[in-house]
Amino acid sequence: MIRGRLHWIFDLDGTLTVAQHDFDAIRRQLGIAAGRPILETLEELPAGRAAPLYAHLDRIERDLAGRARAAPGAAELLSALRARGARMGILTRNRRPTARRTLDACGLSGWFADEDILGREEAPPKPDPGGIERLLARWRGTAADAVMVGDNRMDIAAGRAAGAAAVCVGARNGGDAAGADLWVQRLDQLLPEL
Ligand SMILES: [Mg+2]
Repeated sequence: MIRGRLHWIFDLDGTLTVAQHDFDAIRRQLGIAAGRPILETLEELPAGRAAPLYAHLDRIERDLAGRARAAPGAAELLSALRARGARMGILTRNRRPTARRTLDACGLSGWFADEDILGREEAPPKPDPGGIERLLARWRGTAADAVMVGDNRMDIAAGRAAGAAAVCVGARNGGDAAGADLWVQRLDQLLPEL
């Protein structure tokens, strides 16, 4: 399914890093109802109410970013992909500077050019496939040669909507893997599939 594909797009938090975001706790801190999507909820608020909540979310995310650790097998997979000449990018619902800080904290920064990291200010949030399409256009790649890797159902949905292969990694909840072409517990379990 993913063999020979050379355009790889990763979710960041919980995929390349050890999951540490407690989204329910973040919702509580921001006063967002359980189960509601965080970014979309803020988007719907009047600007005056949303601004301090965005600032609060930014503080939460920057704090988490500074404590990020690489997911087991992440460096091995990225190294193997680079050796094969793959293009690699990140599509995150986080902000690009926070993504960079996260990569720095967990030693994965060297694998990704800034312009290959799309945050919520560079692309519509997943499950919208727009970010995947933008990276593929930049790389002159096709969805048939692309893989989207994530730990959340929104990552899988974005990958499928773009027409790429969708890989679910380390999902704590099997429901997140629904619709994925492949489901692994650790990123290095993808090595035999390359
Ligand atoms: Mg994630």
